Amino acid sequence: MIASLNGLSVLVTGASKGIGKGIAKGFADAGAKVLIVARHESSGAAAVEEIRSAGGTANLCCADVSNRKEMSAAVARCVELYGGLDVLCANAGIFPSAELESMTDEQWDEVMNINVKSTFICVQICLPELKKSQAGRVVVTSSITGPITGFPGWAHYGASKSAQLGFIRTAAIELGKYQITINAVMPGNILTEGLENMGQDYLAQMSVSIPLKRLGSTQDIANAAMFLASKEAGYVTGQTIVVDGGQVLPESLEAMG
Ligand code: NAP
Repeated sequence: MIASLNGLSVLVTGASKGIGKGIAKGFADAGAKVLIVARHESSGAAAVEEIRSAGGTANLCCADVSNRKEMSAAVARCVELYGGLDVLCANAGIFPSAELESMTDEQWDEVMNINVKSTFICVQICLPELKKSQAGRVVVTSSITGPITGFPGWAHYGASKSAQLGFIRTAAIELGKYQITINAVMPGNILTEGLENMGQDYLAQMSVSIPLKRLGSTQDIANAAMFLASKEAGYVTGQTIVVDGGQVLPESLEAMG
């Protein structure tokens, strides 16, 4: 557990399920006060209940990350509940599959809006509160897909996850004067509700291609996010951590032995 997270106010987007829920649970276990942001009430309320029943502090605010008005209300709710905002985990994202030959403008725009424009919107809206914090932190959930690897059906998704990294590099320079850091975690294949929708064949194929021979857990990503949000990582900004069980390393199946 990272002691410096105790008492911090943390807003995690896309925290009703999957990686975001794992991040929210990790911070709550470390003594932080967490605001869960997601669109749907029922799964969000269940995530809050899970954290509270483990002794943590969590609340829900339903909002769409690509909607500026709804996100402003979420930040206001966080300040009202916890007195400020120290850490933004910009995690919400979607990964619908669409082959390039038939991809529509609408499919492209939806992925770009929810994955990239929302990162800009959330950081900008949180900025006034992060500036008031003693150690403002932003942790973005990117991916290995796009910045390092490719996967059929995810041209738009890969582009969106690469764009997030371009964003943090300039943001890190601009936010440095406020002592705010911004970094990204790049997960490999992490067992979440979203990934389970890809089907058992996909999951089985993926785990044999990973040197550590298993898909990642949401806790694996939470651990990296919590490090980047900690006091101990205060001199790290504009950087990325790949958390993928070594998946990007093999040159070929032969390398897997
Ligand atoms: P997931 O299981 O599908 O969960 C997605 C979460 O985001 C849910 O809480 C969902 O709740 C929320 N969400 C989706 N669209 C939203 C919107 N417009 N506004 C607010 N909340 C929204 O996904 P996941 O697998 O945990 O992925 C989370 C992040 O990790 C994404 O950015 C993804 O690109 C990244 N990632 C995942 C993997 C992986 O292997 N799973 C690998 C690399 C990167 P609502 O539907 O209620 O809004």
